[in-house]
Amino acid sequence: LSTLKIAIGAMELIKKSVKDVMTDIDDVFMLSEDQVLNAETMTKISDSGYTRIPVYEGNNRNKVKNLLYVTDLALIGKDNNITVKAVAGFNKRRLRIVDENMPVLALMDEFKMGEYHLAMVAKAHDVKKHHHGKFVDDKMDNFIMKSMKLVEATMLPEAPEDHAITLVGLITLEDITEELLQAEITDE
Ligand code: ADP
Repeated sequence: LSTLKIAIGAMELIKKSVKDVMTDIDDVFMLSEDQVLNAETMTKISDSGYTRIPVYEGNNRNKVKNLLYVTDLALIGKDNNITVKAVAGFNKRRLRIVDENMPVLALMDEFKMGEYHLAMVAKAHDVKKHHHGKFVDDKMDNFIMKSMKLVEATMLPEAPEDHAITLVGLITLEDITEELLQAEITDE
């Protein structure tokens, strides 16, 4: 792999935002916090092949609150019938939510700091539209700002309105490095 190719990949990345390289939400393997970690669920997890699994509240895939690390499951017996919530709640993995328009390089800087290498990607709704052109909600702005900061998963602020943000994907360091290495050299 040539250095030139990587350099070109890096230049391509400057133009890209998180939504261009993320894994689409429909393809994200997630678990409900209510799911029981029985043999069947354990098999599903291991068949997925992923090491980090977003955990959502109830049956609302838009409300991801936590991450389950496959390594957290090492000490759990198959017949304990413990819930995802118990394990994920106990280990309290940090969850980062970023805006879909965040530049990829900005997120790469965060990943480089090393606290986490995975983030959920959200689309913030235009509140203005839903309120007939009147700009109302600075509570909403506040919520989005808080959500975009690193928060303990369990302390994710409640949205003032349901579905104030919509999750659109998941991104890891792997998605970014992949993009770097796959750059095509094209003549424009
Ligand atoms: P892992 O460590 O689980 O293999 P990587 O960080 O190596 O994950 O990412 C590999 C690819 O899998 C990336 O494209 C990433 O977006 C995607 N990915 C990671 N976790 C999940 C998940 N839970 N569901 C769907 N795709 C995922």
